[in-house]
Amino acid sequence: MTARLAIDTGRCIGTSLCAATAPPHHVALGTDERAHLLPNAPVLGQEALDAIDLCPVEAIHLLPADSTTEERP
Ligand code: SF4
Repeated sequence: MTARLAIDTGRCIGTSLCAATAPPHHVALGTDERAHLLPNAPVLGQEALDAIDLCPVEAIHLLPADSTTEERP
């Protein structure tokens, strides 16, 4: 199964742990101080999966690549 990350920005508390763990390809903190996925991220690697485990509020999820679910604004 090919997968992609999804971030629930409504749940994110802006710790930047994910941005520090999976830089610079997948996640960055926005001006709203919430994590956002970067466009054109490469295939998920271990760093991205580690970011899921490190998020203290479980705001990062792994979804099937063909899922149409969008991150919450
Ligand atoms: S680790 Fe979780 S809470 Fe921290 S910035 Fe990333 S998504 Fe937000």
